[in-house]
Amino acid sequence: MTPLDKVGEFGLIGRIQQTVELKQPSTILGIGDDAAILAPAAGQELVISTDLLTEGVHFDLTFCPLKHLGYKAVAVNVSDIAAMNALPTQIVVAVSIPPRFTVEAVEELFEGVKLACEAYNVDLVGGDTTGSRAGLTISVTALGQVAAGQAVRRSGAGPNDLLCVTGDLGGAYLGLQVLEREKQVWQADPESQPELGNYPYVLQRQLRPEARMDVIHELRELGVVPTSMIDVSDGLASEVLHLCQASGTGARIFTENLPIANPTLEVANEFNLDPIMCMLNGGEDYELLFTVPLADHAKLKNHPDITIIGHMVDKSEGANLITKSGQPVPLKAQGFSHFDHG
Ligand code: ADP
Ligand code: MG
Repeated sequence: MTPLDKVGEFGLIGRIQQTVELKQPSTILGIGDDAAILAPAAGQELVISTDLLTEGVHFDLTFCPLKHLGYKAVAVNVSDIAAMNALPTQIVVAVSIPPRFTVEAVEELFEGVKLACEAYNVDLVGGDTTGSRAGLTISVTALGQVAAGQAVRRSGAGPNDLLCVTGDLGGAYLGLQVLEREKQVWQADPESQPELGNYPYVLQRQLRPEARMDVIHELRELGVVPTSMIDVSDGLASEVLHLCQASGTGARIFTENLPIANPTLEVANEFNLDPIMCMLNGGEDYELLFTVPLADHAKLKNHPDITIIGHMVDKSEGANLITKSGQPVPLKAQGFSHFDHG
């Protein structure tokens, strides 16, 4: 293990730079100068988004492997670019590193960053590296491109538009519950071995989420252009409310339509947690929530990765969850647990 001060800031940057590959045609110059140089293609607009992840707030290094953290930091930013209907092209990564970290640990973090760069076909073109007197922070800024006028905002939904979500929900939240339970067991008895082997699906949802770029490509192939879109980072209920607020509509979503994976359901039962509550308020699933015109129903109704969970309505109706028995329950951004399951 090599202490950080042995290689210094420039040594560290040199090591990161060594294995970076540049693939995007719009990257003219990457790491190594005062700034990177980019040349977006003609007719494209740039989109840009930043997320900052702080140790103790957004992640816990007791159970989050550094490689996964690096991957996730990139994936959550790519997810924001996807949610604009854009394609990601470059990232810059700023880290502040506590002295307890070794060179190998930082390299592990950047292994994850580079894996994500390969997975999403983006170039790492710069960043910043400093020390930290508190915990680790990692901030990723992602750039993307979209044909002029084709970006999808939160504000374009109208009444009767179908409300769709990709993948399944609640898994990341339940993954966190498993990790926190095992951490408590381990803190009480450091000799104990964590029991994580039984929960591969929810742990992967929490520790290594994927941005749904695949769905962005598929929607393009299907000729479907969402009228509004957002990624599910804070929980479905909160994101539905964001779309409604930005679009000036209400919404109706149906309990029975909400997608949950079997392994997620099993963990919810084990923890005595209401699966619907987990799907609505869990967060960190990084799926896409979007609206499409009613006319696109046939194109999406049998899509394996897309579920139609409801539709937009007039603003005056508000945003409601319709339970099995047909009862409307006003959607709240978080924290409601008592409602009729019918
Ligand atoms: P400056 O003093 O101008 O901030 P730095 O010495 O911090 O320059 O950075 C030198 C080069 O290394 C720049 O191109 C910068 O973008 C890049 N760089 C620094 N830290 C990172 C990092 N963590 N990841 C990727 N590139 C980095
Ligand atoms: Mg710098």
